Formats: sequence, C-alpha cells, structure tokens
Amino acid sequence: MNFQCVATDGPSQTGFLQIKNEKVKTPGLLFPAKEPYHPPSFAECFISSSTTKKYTPLITIGKNIFFKQNQPDQKTDINNHLIIPDALPESVKNYLQQFDRQQNKNIIVLSSEPNIASQKIKSNESALFIISNATQLFNNPKKFITYIASLREQINYDALVYTPSIATPETLGILTYIGCDLFDVTSAILAARNQQFFLPQTMIETKKIVENPCYCPVCSQTKKHPSNFSFDQLLQHNYFMLHQELQIVRNAIQNNQLRDLIEQRIRFSPQLVTLLRHLDESHYDYVEKRTPVSMPESYILNATTRESGNRSEIKRFQHRVNSRYQKPKEKKILLLLPCSSRKPYSFSKSHQRFQRAISKTKLPGVIHEVIVTSPLGLVPRELELTYPASSYDISVTGEWYEDEKLMIQQQLTKFLSNNTYDAIISHLPKTLVQPNKNSEKPWYFSLTDNKATSKKSLQSLTAILNQILDKKQNQDYSSPSRSHQKKQQVHEIVAYQFGRTLATTLLRNSVIKGKYPYLKIFDENNQQLGMIPDQRGLISLTAEGGNKISHLSKYTVTIDTGFTVKGSILSPGVITADPSIRRGDDVLVNQGENFLGVGVATMNGSEMKKRSYGEAVNMRHKIKKEG
Ligand SMILES: [Zn+2]
Repeated sequence: MNFQCVATDGPSQTGFLQIKNEKVKTPGLLFPAKEPYHPPSFAECFISSSTTKKYTPLITIGKNIFFKQNQPDQKTDINNHLIIPDALPESVKNYLQQFDRQQNKNIIVLSSEPNIASQKIKSNESALFIISNATQLFNNPKKFITYIASLREQINYDALVYTPSIATPETLGILTYIGCDLFDVTSAILAARNQQFFLPQTMIETKKIVENPCYCPVCSQTKKHPSNFSFDQLLQHNYFMLHQELQIVRNAIQNNQLRDLIEQRIRFSPQLVTLLRHLDESHYDYVEKRTPVSMPESYILNATTRESGNRSEIKRFQHRVNSRYQKPKEKKILLLLPCSSRKPYSFSKSHQRFQRAISKTKLPGVIHEVIVTSPLGLVPRELELTYPASSYDISVTGEWYEDEKLMIQQQLTKFLSNNTYDAIISHLPKTLVQPNKNSEKPWYFSLTDNKATSKKSLQSLTAILNQILDKKQNQDYSSPSRSHQKKQQVHEIVAYQFGRTLATTLLRNSVIKGKYPYLKIFDENNQQLGMIPDQRGLISLTAEGGNKISHLSKYTVTIDTGFTVKGSILSPGVITADPSIRRGDDVLVNQGENFLGVGVATMNGSEMKKRSYGEAVNMRHKIKKEG
C-alpha cells in the first residue's frame, strides 16, 4: 500500500492510493458494501466485513481486514477507539464494532486526545491514520484544527488521514483543505433515515422541498416528490451528492481553487467559518509552508470574502515586505497611489497617467511609488510583478471598510518604521490613510476631487511633488539612472525571494538588460546569471547565477551522490533541503559537496525529506564541468 500524490493545494492533496494492482483516488469516500446500504456504481472504496461476490472491496473495514493485505491474518483494531454515533443503523454499527484487535504498522488508530495520539505517532512509516472519535473532536473547531495540523506536521506527507463519520457535502471541502484524505458516507445514511435530502452545500428536510432541483440518476428517473422516496432512493441521492462534491473538491485541488471553493462552501455554517479562521490565525506556518510562492500565469487570487484577506500568500507577502524588503536609498519621497484592477499596476491606464505626472517633476527618480490596496496592504512598485500582487482581484465599490482601513494603516506604520523618507504624499482619499500621530515627516494630500486620474488631481500631484522638491533642493538628491533603477528593482525582487544577503551577493558587479518586465541579469564577463521571465515576478537563475550564491548555503537541496541527475530529482534522492524552500522557488542543488546546478522546487523543503514518492526538484540548468 502506498500513496502517490498528483497535486497539492495548500495542505490538501489528491492522488492515488495503490493497493496491489488497484488504484483508489484520494480524497476518497468509503461506502459500506452491504444491503440495505448498497454502494452505488460510482463508489471507489468500500467498508466491508468481508469480500462478497457482488462487491470486491478495494478497502475493507471490518471483521477481517481493513486493507487488502498479503497476510489475511493481519488485522486492525479500531474497536476501542471509534466513537460510533448512536443514530447509526445497527448493521453499520456492527461493522464498525467488529474491528478485531491486532497491531498493524500500516494503519494507526489515534485517540482524539493529542498527548495520547502523539505517543502513537512513532512510526513515520505508517500509511494511514484514523482519528477515532473524530465526531466529538469536530464539535470543537479550535481543538480539531489544532489536532489535524499537529498530526500532519508529525507524519509523512505521503500518509493519509481518515476522519470517520464527519464528511457531508458541506464539510468535505474544508476537511480536505485542512489536510484530511479519507471520509465515509455515514452522514448520507443518517440523513436518509431522518428524511434529510442533501443539497450541494447543505441539507433540507424532504417535506420542505418545493421543487426538486436534482437530476441525479435517482431523481431524474422518478416523478415522486422526495418526501415519498423510499429509503434506498433517498440514500442513493445522498450518496450521489456526496460523491459529486468529492469530485468537485478533487478538481479544485488540481486547479489550485480549493481555497476559493471552501470560502464559499462554509457560508451556511458558523462552525465551519470558525474552523477556517482558527486555521488562518493560529496555524499560519502550517498552511504557508504548503503554499507555493508563484502560480501559473492564468491564476487569479479572488479575494471576495473576509477570510480571503487571511490567506497565507497574502500574509506571507506582508511579512516579506516588512522583513526582506527595503526601499532603494535614492528614493526620498514616498508617494502612496491607489491600485488598479489591471495587473501589473504599471500596465494600467491609471498608473501610466500617474507615471506621466511624476515624470513631469524635476527629479522623478527620487519619488518612490507604493501602491495601497486591499487585502495586501502596501505594494512597493518594485514588487508589482510578484505573486500575489501580480494576480489578485477584489470587489471595488469605491468604499473602504473599517477593517481594511485598519489593516492598511497598520501596514503603513510598519513600512514607515523600516523605511525612512523626507516627505510623504498621498494620492488617496484622506479617510484612507492618515499621518501617524508621532509622524515627524511632512504629509501632503494631492487629490482635488474624488478621482485620482482627473486632470486636476494629476496636475495637483505634479505641483505638490515639485513644491516638495523645491524645499529639498539644498539636499543631496540625485535621480538614479534608468539602468540603476532596474537593478534596484531586480535587487528587491531577489531579496523578496531569497533574502537580502543572497540578493546583494548575486547582483554584485552585475548589469541588467532588457525591457520591463523582461529583465536579464549579466555579470561583468557578460555571463547571464538569471532573468525575470514573463510576469512570474521571481528570478529564474542560470547555473552560473546559482554558482555565484551557492557558498551561502541557502535555498539549497543536497542530493545523494549515487546517481546521475537528468530532468528531475525525486524526493528519495534528497539528503537535506533548506526548510525555507517553498514550491515554485528556485533552488540550488548540491550533489554531495559539489554545486550541481539550479532547478525549481516542486515541493517545500521539509516535504522533500518527508515524502517518499514524487519529483522534488525540476532541474533547469546544470553547471558545466571545468576542464
Ligand atoms: Zn437526486
């Protein structure tokens, strides 16, 4: 039994569980393989007390075996751990109660008490963890999310987590998102017994249905009202809805859209909203580690709910702006600008107008453009190509909510404590950003009406900037050359990506060529060190670029010397990997003690060590051997 991951999206994963010659898709649903709960034709995994002629279980839970195994006498004991809902039909209860007692290192049943569970998670080799009284644990969102995040951090990335009895069409998405893999259809059975009809995001009493909106194989073949459905019809409909949601979830993972999906799905349940908020607020590291630093070009982060602002890529952006970014030293005057719906901002008509207004001033090169936006806060112009600043969308009404204003004000305060200016000018409504009470620097507001792009506002912007520059004319201001500004921008992108030490080392004695946003870095011997391709907003290193910074031993993956590297480095070949590596990062690859080349991480650094299957690094360039 082993798991092959096909795609991940945050802490969620989809892939195949291989048992002998058969493959089961995950996330997956377990169906009881017995009348009167007979599984539908689309069922992929079965709970069964035995193999029957009618149903060949891929996975069996019950009297004899859990997973099909080579030695049929190996049995799994989850009898003492499962808390089985009283409302469950007797025969299903019997299945669950019939687990025999036998140790199995592949499958570990965990108590919902975290300390007891931790002692049992000794075997990192284990493939499946079953959380025994998941139902009780799930009733406390804070405890539940802490339990799952802590469990996933302790076990292998390949291991699967089964939470019995809690999946419904409403919970399936978020359970998967937080890191659970296997579920069962208990809720569909209970709902059918209680005359409850599953809908995509909720359930409804059959007698309350005015029109049946479903066209599943059951509903489309009968004119009966759902309240007159037989138990089996209602059950089969509920199975269908649960399975349909499962497929929607699996699709969403492959398309990096699970977060968007669950932000919608949780709306019917305050408990699920609480669960997501606890995840975002208390388990940032757990999610951030599993979130890529770049996305496919077509990807848009839709920030459409209050929870979107807490997404780990947004928090990471804010954190890196505060910790890794520094404004270029020639920039003396801070200009706060509104965002644009077109990204990158400088490609929009409004930003081209702002830039024309700036270019009319005496020293445009000393003016530092920083874009004020929700939910990111502040985006320095140098980072506009970087995800998620390069690809997010929000609803724009022109009104700002109090919590957005507060977030922006907080980000601005942090930004100004790290970056010092001689003057600050805001081309934004006065209600949005305000000078700090202790601010010693002069503040100016340049809007003359409500429109940042009106002729009057733009003229006012140029005039106020010139007025500030006139006052500062005795100071040592100089406008840096275009090529120097390009170099500063590349420096800040590399600093955002790798930290300041690597950025400074890489760019020492370098020259930037190319037309924005396609910038290439060359060293003093005209050897290319890297480039910013398309609008990825991160640098892609060449082998020479990697070689120049490899002695710093950051963002480095060290692999075994025992094989010849071609296109991919698989995780079993990885000996050590910098835990700060995220999926999508460029990494430096060492084979033993020697620098080998550069590639793109397809897993995060700790995952490379804790996943026994799959590509860890996609090699881009190998260094030419000397001699
Ligand atoms: Zn139906």
